[in-house]
Amino acid sequence: MIHESKTIAIVGAGLTAAALSRLLRAGRHPVLVFEKARGPGGRLSTRKTAHGRYNHGAAGLTGAELASVHPVLSAHWPRSDGNPFAMPSNECVRALLGDASVVYTAQVARLTRGHSGWNLSASDGSVLGQASTLLLTAPAPQSADLLQEVLPSWANQLRQAHMEPSWVVMVKASLPTMQDLTDSAPTGRWHRRKPLLGHPDCYVFEADRTWAHQHLEEDPRDIIADCLGHLGLGSEQIEEATAHRWRYARCVSPLASSHFWDPETRIGVAGDAFAGEVSQQGILRALHSAAELASAVLEGTHCS
Ligand SMILES: Cc1cc2nc3c(=O)[nH]c(=O)nc-3n(C[C@H](O)[C@H](O)[C@H](O)COP(=O)(O)OP(=O)(O)OC[C@H]3O[C@@H](n4cnc5c(N)ncnc54)[C@H](O)[C@@H]3O)c2cc1C
Repeated sequence: MIHESKTIAIVGAGLTAAALSRLLRAGRHPVLVFEKARGPGGRLSTRKTAHGRYNHGAAGLTGAELASVHPVLSAHWPRSDGNPFAMPSNECVRALLGDASVVYTAQVARLTRGHSGWNLSASDGSVLGQASTLLLTAPAPQSADLLQEVLPSWANQLRQAHMEPSWVVMVKASLPTMQDLTDSAPTGRWHRRKPLLGHPDCYVFEADRTWAHQHLEEDPRDIIADCLGHLGLGSEQIEEATAHRWRYARCVSPLASSHFWDPETRIGVAGDAFAGEVSQQGILRALHSAAELASAVLEGTHCS
């Protein structure tokens, strides 16, 4: 059980949370991050297998992208090159989090408001933490579920930010096979991504969005079979092939505002579901939304 009643609690340890945490800690505010997974990254995710590594969510970030949003975000960035495939995606998020306090395998299931602030509970009713300020960064439908009881109007707005699912297949085959594929693979249902630096034979293929939507509940083995069949790869050419379903991959109809923030009850929401002034890609929306929410939280807040 963790009690941190004066801290800022952040739900999620993806890009939005990492940027928020970096900016708030630069303003000398302690943060405590709760993440349901075993590590950071969220949709900037990297899978490590015995055969290699795959960025199977979005590709990584560059220092220039971070600097374009806020100089503090790029201040400790470990790489100076501009190649988003140079670092595992989850390491990008880990670098932004730095030495922030993060509790992993901590799924927040319920929010309640007490005399001293917000209580965060797990599904078995145990208290995960308490905080004076609560910031949510889960994908919009998941933040909406958490808010349904305490702020139904925000929950309803978040449900308007429609999210598309995705299927990705991670394939490792011998390099000559992959090079042949690189030259001749048909474009169509499965789109090939650049592999991560240092793992030239570990490819990620992402399904066409409409097809992914239509086949969302299918068995992963059938998804792999479709991908390999489409690419003309036989099982004898493959060292490994794994499928991953993203139920919420990209937000396709972000909200017009940049974030939600209520200074009275000190609760906020940020993420790629918020467009603000920036309607570009999800990664940039997430960063801008985090920067806007951080400045709202810091405004009028004095650190002791
Ligand atoms: C396959 C794929 C390809 C993509 N390609 C691109 C691209 O080319 N360009 C681009 O800009 N964007 C792309 N995106 C979108 C991009 O990854 C996201 O916009 C961005 O990573 C969002 O970051 P976030 O921190 O807001 O959300 P997330 O990364 O989803 O982080 C939220 C975190 O909250 C955690 N969480 C959720 N609920 C709870 C809970 N109840 N308790 C505790 N923790 C919780 C989750 O585990 C997760 O770690 C892609 C996404 C996918 C999946």
